[in-house]
Amino acid sequence: MERIAIFPGSFDPITCGHEDIINRAVPLFDKIIVSIGRNEDKKNYFTIDQRLGFLKTVFAGNIKIEIDTYEGLTVDYCRKVGANYILRGLRTSADFEFERSIGQVNKKLYPEIETIFLLTHPEYTSLNSSVVRDILRHGGNVSQFIPEGLSLGLGF
Ligand code: ADP
Repeated sequence: MERIAIFPGSFDPITCGHEDIINRAVPLFDKIIVSIGRNEDKKNYFTIDQRLGFLKTVFAGNIKIEIDTYEGLTVDYCRKVGANYILRGLRTSADFEFERSIGQVNKKLYPEIETIFLLTHPEYTSLNSSVVRDILRHGGNVSQFIPEGLSLGLGF
């Protein structure tokens, strides 16, 4: 059976922390689908198309990585695309508590699914998309926090 993982998230925008988890997971799976969860209630900084564009740029050329979006329950999406693993990154104990409940509920909803966690590289523990958005809102330079060479179309 092919080992297909999804890496779900908002990626608003993708950071070095996300990129690091995905790259480290590549040898573990046959395919990783990095998928943006569409949530109409959530006010996002970047549009879906912008976020898709960033992900496609960062992972262009990696044949094991696909980029997609989904709506609704993550487990329903996993069934649809034939994924048997959900990949998540763990930064802190707060992440763990949050992920534990989601992971356990997902397992109830879809017993064949396994959630796989990779520990954050220490350098990225304090990094998250909301910090990047705050810096952007105040006109700061975020280039050290986002994947190398990625342009968010903001002039740096
Ligand atoms: P959500 O939209 O679920 O709040 P994100 O889109 O920010 O989450 O992140 C998706 C996944 O990436 C989560 O598993 C999260 O733990 C992980 N992640 C986010 N930032 C980092 C980081 N700096 N280092 C490692 N993993 C991270």
